[in-house]
Amino acid sequence: MRHRFLMCPATHYRVEYSINAWMEGNRDRVQPETAQREWDALYALISEHATIELIDPVPELPDLVFAGGAALVLGKRAVLSRFAHEERRPEEAVWRKWLHENGFEIIEVPDDIAFEGASDCALSPDGGPLWMGYGFRTQLEAGDFLARTFDCEVVPLHLVERRFFDLTACFGMLEGGYLLYYPPAFDERSLREIERRIPPRNRYAVSERDALKLCCSALESDGCVIVSQASAELARVLGAWGKKLVTTGLGEFMLGGGAARGMALRLDEPAPKRRSSGHTPPLVSATVHFRGPLLEPGLLEELFHAVSSKGGTHEVAHMNPGRKGKEPATLELRVEAPSTATMETILSELIKRGGRTDFEVARPATLLPAEMDGVAPEGFYGTTIFATEVFFDGRWHRLRKQRMDGVIVADRSAGHATCVLIRDLKKGDLVAVGHEGIRTIIARQPEEEGEDFKFMSSTASTERRVETAVESIAWEMFRIRSRGGRIAVVAGPVVIHTGGGPYLENLIREGYVSALLGGNAIAVHDIENSMYGTSLGVNLKRGAPVRGGHMHHITTINRIRRCGSIAAAVEQGVVTSGIFHTLVKTGVPFSLAGSIRDDGPLPDTEMDLVQAQTDYARLIEGADMILMLSSMLHSIGVGNMTPAGVKLVCVDINVSVATKLADRGSMDSTPVITDVGLFLNLLWRRLEEMGKDATSRVV
Ligand code: NAD
Repeated sequence: MRHRFLMCPATHYRVEYSINAWMEGNRDRVQPETAQREWDALYALISEHATIELIDPVPELPDLVFAGGAALVLGKRAVLSRFAHEERRPEEAVWRKWLHENGFEIIEVPDDIAFEGASDCALSPDGGPLWMGYGFRTQLEAGDFLARTFDCEVVPLHLVERRFFDLTACFGMLEGGYLLYYPPAFDERSLREIERRIPPRNRYAVSERDALKLCCSALESDGCVIVSQASAELARVLGAWGKKLVTTGLGEFMLGGGAARGMALRLDEPAPKRRSSGHTPPLVSATVHFRGPLLEPGLLEELFHAVSSKGGTHEVAHMNPGRKGKEPATLELRVEAPSTATMETILSELIKRGGRTDFEVARPATLLPAEMDGVAPEGFYGTTIFATEVFFDGRWHRLRKQRMDGVIVADRSAGHATCVLIRDLKKGDLVAVGHEGIRTIIARQPEEEGEDFKFMSSTASTERRVETAVESIAWEMFRIRSRGGRIAVVAGPVVIHTGGGPYLENLIREGYVSALLGGNAIAVHDIENSMYGTSLGVNLKRGAPVRGGHMHHITTINRIRRCGSIAAAVEQGVVTSGIFHTLVKTGVPFSLAGSIRDDGPLPDTEMDLVQAQTDYARLIEGADMILMLSSMLHSIGVGNMTPAGVKLVCVDINVSVATKLADRGSMDSTPVITDVGLFLNLLWRRLEEMGKDATSRVV
C-alpha cells in the first residue's frame, strides 16, 4: 500500500549540538553536499513508492530534517512532540503549524511530560497495541496519556542502551505484523512483552552490526522496505517475509542519530484499535522514602539505577541534604512503573537499600452497573466530605467533585472517578460497592503543615473574643483575594435586619466575594431596603416600624416580578442600591434556593430544589473559603456539599448551627458566635485597614 509521509529538506541539516550518543564528537562534521545528495536519493526513492509532503526548512533548526520526531499521527489526530531537549523545543511550533494547516487535530501532551512522537512509537499494523519506547527521551507517563487519548492499549518498552535512544533505532515494525528489533536495546520485561506478543516467525533479532547501521529505522511503503544498509542475512529474512529491500546510504544523517524512518513522518496511519474495557492502563506509581548518609559517593546513582534497570522511571520529589553529625539526609523518590509486577520488583530492590514505602498492591474496588436511572446498586459506598481514592484498572483514582452523600462512579475509558448524587446516576454507570479498594485521605491539620495561619479550633465558644476571630478571618480573606482565590458567601435575611447589608456590599465591591448563595428572603429584604429603607417594614436607621410597612415586602416582590428578574430590575433603574444591585453591577454570580417559607417568590428564586442544589454546587466549586452568615437552612445545605479542606466560617448568634457544621468532621470549621451585623461591620473595617496598609507599603 502506498503511504503518505512528511519530510523536511536537508538544506540546514548539521550537527551543532550533542543530544544523543551518535552526535558526540561529531559536531560540525556533517558534509553539507553529501548530506544533500543522500537526502535527495532518499526522497527520490520514497517518492517512487509513496506520496511525500514537504515542510519548509528553517535555518536555526538543523534537526527539523528528522521529521519522524514531529508528532505521532494516528487517523486525523496528531499528538505533537514535546521534545526532551531544549535544543529541539523550538521545532514544536513549526510542526504544530504545518499539521494544523493540513487538517490534523492537534493534541498536546501535558506540559511536564516529554514525548517524541513517532520516533518513540510504533503502531502494530494488525490492530494490535501501540508500542512506545521510553527511558531516554519520551517519559513513561506519556504512555498513560496516549492510552487515554486514543482509548487504545499502549505497551511501554524500556530503552536501556544509549546508542538506541529512541524506538525507531531498535524496533522496526513492518506491515503484516513483522518486526526487526535489536534485543540488547531493551530491558528484560520489555523483551518479554515483545516476545509474548509477536510470534517467533514474525520477528527477527538483528545483529549488532545491522543495528548499528540503524536498519531497524526502516521505512516501508508499497511492499518496499528502505534502509540505509543491510547484511545478506537481513536481506534474506526480509525476502522470506515477501518484502522488497532497497538500501540508500544515509551516513551523514547517522552522525545525528537518525535514518530512514526518523526522516519521514507517516501521515496516513489509521487510528489504533480501541482497547477492551478490562485493559489495565500502563502506569503505577509509588513514593519511597530514604533516610541516612545518602550523599556518600555512588549511593544515589545506585538507587536510581535500581529503578531504571528494572523498567521504572524516577523523580526526586524532595531531598534534604541534612546536617553533618546532627541530622541525616532524607530523600523522597517518586517511582513510576508500567505494571504492578514491575513496581513490586523495583520496590523490593529499593527496600533492600533501606527505602520505606506505603505502596501496597490494592485490591480493586467492586464496580457494579446501576440497573436503572437514579438508583444505586445495593451495598454502594456512600461518600464523605473527605478526599477519597478508588482503585481500579491498576491504580488509585482521586475522586472528582468530592462531596458528602454521593456515590463513586468509575469511568474506565476516561480513567477517572467522580462523586455523583444518586439522583444523577444513569443506568449502566459503574458504581463502587463495599469498602475494598476505596480509601479516604484525611488532610493533615494546618499546624502540622507549619502554616503560619492557624484557623481557630472547631469548639464553639461564646466567650471567644469576636475581634480575635475577625482578625484572623480578615487576614485569611485578604490572602485569598491577593492570590486570586475564591470566597463564597452564604447569607440569610438577618444580614439585612441587623444592618450588615452595606458591609457585605463593600466586600462584594472590593472583590472579596466570588459568589453569593441564599434564599428568597435575603434578596426580598435587601431590595425592600433599597426601595423603602425598611426590612420587613422596619426602618433600619431608626429601628422602628413605619406606617404601611407591612406591604413593603410584597410590593417589592411584585415589582421585581414585573421586571422579570433582579438583573432586569437593576438595568431598568428599579433597583439602584443594595447587595443585589452590587452583585449585578459587579457580575458576581448568585443563586437563590427556594423554600416553603417563601413569599412570592422572586423570579430569580429557584423553586426546583434539585436544580437549586446543582446551582449551589457549581458556585462553591473551587472555593477556598465559605463565609456562612446567619442562615441555618442554607449554611447546613452548603456544608453538606462541601469537600473537606475548604475553610468554613459560620457566623450565627446560636451556637447549635456552628456545632452542627463542625460535627460534619471538618477540621476547618470556625464558629463565630455573635450578631452578624456586628461581625460584618468589624470584618469590613479590618479589611479596609489591611487594604490601606498594603497600598501605603506599595507607595
Ligand atoms: P434560618 O432559621 O435557616 O436561619 C436564621 C439563622 O440566623 C438562625 O440560625 C439564627 O440563629 C440566626 N440569627 C438570628 N439572629 C441573628 C443575629 N442577630 N446574628 C446572627 N445570627 C442570627 O432562617 P433563614 O435562613 O432566615 O430562612 C430560611 C428559609 O426561609 C430561607 O430560604 C429564606 O429565604 C426563607 N424565608 C423566606 C422569607 C420570605 O420569603 N419572606 C422570609 C424568611 C425566610
